[in-house]
Amino acid sequence: MLVVEDANTADALGDVLAGELSAAGHVVALQRFADRHGLLADDEAVGAVRDALGAARPDAVLAVGSGVLNDVTRYATFLEGSAYVSVPSAPSMDGYASSVAAMQFDGLKVTLPAQAPLAIFADSAVLAAAPREMIVWGFGDLIGKATARFDWVLGNAASGEVFCDAVEARVLAPLTRCVDDVARLLAGDEDAVVALTTGLVESGIAMAMMGNSRPASGCEHHASHFWDLLAFRKLREHAPHGLQVGYATRFASGLQEAALAGLAEPMVLTPGAGGSDDERAWFGEQYRALGPVRDDKRAWFATYGESWPPPEPERSAAARRLADVASSFPRVRAALDVAGIPAGAGFLGVDAAMLRATFRYANRLRNRFTVLDLLESQERLDALLDEVLPGS
Ligand SMILES: [Zn+2]
Repeated sequence: MLVVEDANTADALGDVLAGELSAAGHVVALQRFADRHGLLADDEAVGAVRDALGAARPDAVLAVGSGVLNDVTRYATFLEGSAYVSVPSAPSMDGYASSVAAMQFDGLKVTLPAQAPLAIFADSAVLAAAPREMIVWGFGDLIGKATARFDWVLGNAASGEVFCDAVEARVLAPLTRCVDDVARLLAGDEDAVVALTTGLVESGIAMAMMGNSRPASGCEHHASHFWDLLAFRKLREHAPHGLQVGYATRFASGLQEAALAGLAEPMVLTPGAGGSDDERAWFGEQYRALGPVRDDKRAWFATYGESWPPPEPERSAAARRLADVASSFPRVRAALDVAGIPAGAGFLGVDAAMLRATFRYANRLRNRFTVLDLLESQERLDALLDEVLPGS
């Protein structure tokens, strides 16, 4: 067997697990990344796991860890045609059950086809003993489903994008519980931590059911991807995915609430068609690489832009559904307060100018329709950024 771990997860769980497997008669090989933090899901890490697979020829692979270790193992085993089992060390992100791998190549986050694990074995005591900040990361990733849900409903209303009530419910139930449970979660309450972990795994299953990340990822995730890009460009430090998502969720929720008032205004612009100097400066070298997303947006707006707003009674029905989603936002923001994820600029190395650029341009990163596309195409985005985002 091959156990993939890093120095932290070896201490938390990997050493014990490898010992138990050896005692049970298995030959155990280790791929231990020396990093205590900052391991990236990049070519180099994937290459290391592939090399270990080639050398050990294991009958099973176990990923002992959280986000990056699972993404790297999921992708490397997929390329090598072997299966793997996930052994989470912390409830820190929603990718445990995912069938795609979130990789980072040349500064751009890319989601690549991979495979879901054969099984997920999580020990509730290990999860509850995880560092408190990692529990906050998982909370942040899960609470982002509130604004992802709004964007999904909006995409369904604007272009008839597939929407599934059963998948929505699967994500919504644990989201609601985690908003209510945030104080117990932070206290390391085992039941609350298990509920968070289950919710994060359910989100992964929801994505697998849809065949894409739509139920679990909207403009709050695009904001997080934008910050990853700025970190790659050395304009800020890397920060944990879930924490970034939680931070972005507050601002996304404010923009979505503000969008409701002018929901029926027509879409007149194609987002990103202009490519201003300001926009190019934020993306730097990566601007060119995002050309295919711009092409997809252009095609989307050519097809659907003119049919917004929908005729009655669909228009009112969409407005009601979106208002219903947004009715949870005050509680979402209160939970973010309790979790210590702030409302001002300057958190995670994101100053006020960066924050504005984030919500101005994050829609350039994915060909998925969100509230940012709606507002930009309605020529309302700039004014609402002034209104919703904190100043410096
Ligand atoms: Zn996420």
